[in-house]
Amino acid sequence: MLNIPYPDEAAESASLLRRARDVIPGGVNSPVRAFRSVGGTPRFMRSASGPWLTDVDGRRYVDLVCSWGPMILGHAHPEVLEAVRTTAADGFSFGTPSEHEVALAEEIVARVAPVEQVRLVNSGTEATMSAIRLARGATGRSVIVKFAGCYHGHVDSLLAAAGSGLATFALPDSAGVPASSAAETIVLPYNDVPALEAAFAERGGQIAAVITEACPGNMGVVPPEPGFTEALRQVTAAHGALLISDEVMTGFRCSVAGWFGLEGPYAAGAPDLFTFGKVMGGGFPTAAFGGRADLMAQLAPEGPVYQAGTLSGNPVASAAGLTTLRLCTPEVYARLDEVSRTIAGAVTDEFTRAGVAHRIQWAGSMFSVFFRDGQVRNYADSQAQDTAAFGRFFHGMLRRGVHLPPSAFETWFVSAAMDDEAVETVLSALPGAVADIG
Ligand SMILES: *Cc1c(COP(=O)(O)O)cnc(C)c1O
Repeated sequence: MLNIPYPDEAAESASLLRRARDVIPGGVNSPVRAFRSVGGTPRFMRSASGPWLTDVDGRRYVDLVCSWGPMILGHAHPEVLEAVRTTAADGFSFGTPSEHEVALAEEIVARVAPVEQVRLVNSGTEATMSAIRLARGATGRSVIVKFAGCYHGHVDSLLAAAGSGLATFALPDSAGVPASSAAETIVLPYNDVPALEAAFAERGGQIAAVITEACPGNMGVVPPEPGFTEALRQVTAAHGALLISDEVMTGFRCSVAGWFGLEGPYAAGAPDLFTFGKVMGGGFPTAAFGGRADLMAQLAPEGPVYQAGTLSGNPVASAAGLTTLRLCTPEVYARLDEVSRTIAGAVTDEFTRAGVAHRIQWAGSMFSVFFRDGQVRNYADSQAQDTAAFGRFFHGMLRRGVHLPPSAFETWFVSAAMDDEAVETVLSALPGAVADIG
């Protein structure tokens, strides 16, 4: 652990963390929240409104995490709140079909042209897990190709992220993932068409699907180079494998139709399956996977691939998600763009002035700041950055009222609720935080 530079300001958080550690492993319900890579005490939040978080010690922060993406409109947006209130007043969960889930599915299908049907689930992890099962069921094959540095949730077979080079048997990244499960996963370097072609030349007949982040955001933002997504489509189609585009992070954030809306349609054809989460739940646990109707017909009760969920299509979550999506107008995307360009521009200015090596990469209004020079094309590039410098910068920003994602490998998320005061708070925090890098 690094020193905690300002312990007094986090006294209540520290006390809650001690309580939490007794009953929750590491005191957190998702590991990155523990601040392990930046040190110090994670801030326990009491409330949030618009662009602001307020912690249990009464300190306010501009939120550049946005719950890791979902809070695209800012926190407790009045219209989303109203939708949640009125829907909840009619009951929380029926265990039967309801209109809300139909309306949410219609909204997604209307936005992303190749998606004809979706099934709603409760998390991005469930969406990718189910898409993989469907791909295996539909093809009768078992091997999955993924790319190093792409995160698809904590599905056993997709936790294999290590290993670069050509088609090697991946070693599991997490204890508890059976070697048999990891052995069904081929991990390739991102943006490397020859590696992809070599893997298919060797094992093409066994490969059920390639899964990729539509535009990777979980190793920092690493966009597909021109032609890479097309190559994924061509090579999979040539070998009878499916292409799964994971838009859990990018979906409805990069544009009205996510990354597909920015890069697609593709000359070689659309991905077969898509996964969504984060923004489409508006801060509630709902996610989806979808694609061509003939493929989706393989799912129970129509077909032989089983998939289910007690709370799937939950009316309150569906209403929150639908209202959020409907409020994601072109003006909202324009505001996200404006805010993120302003912040990233100021970061570049301050870092350059101070001589701090950095590189900013983009996916629509999504961006990340790498603490290194030069283009970042893949996971190996992303790992070669100064994470200790990031930790000092992170705490410099936190102390000045800006909550960044607590890891150098994460995307910075802005919300359309960021007004002049919030943006100004970020800009005025930068010079001091950059000086703190030392
Ligand atoms: C966040 C994320 C997931 C996992 O979603 P959870 O809701 O956390 O399970 C999957 N894929 C991508 C690309 C993500 O960013």
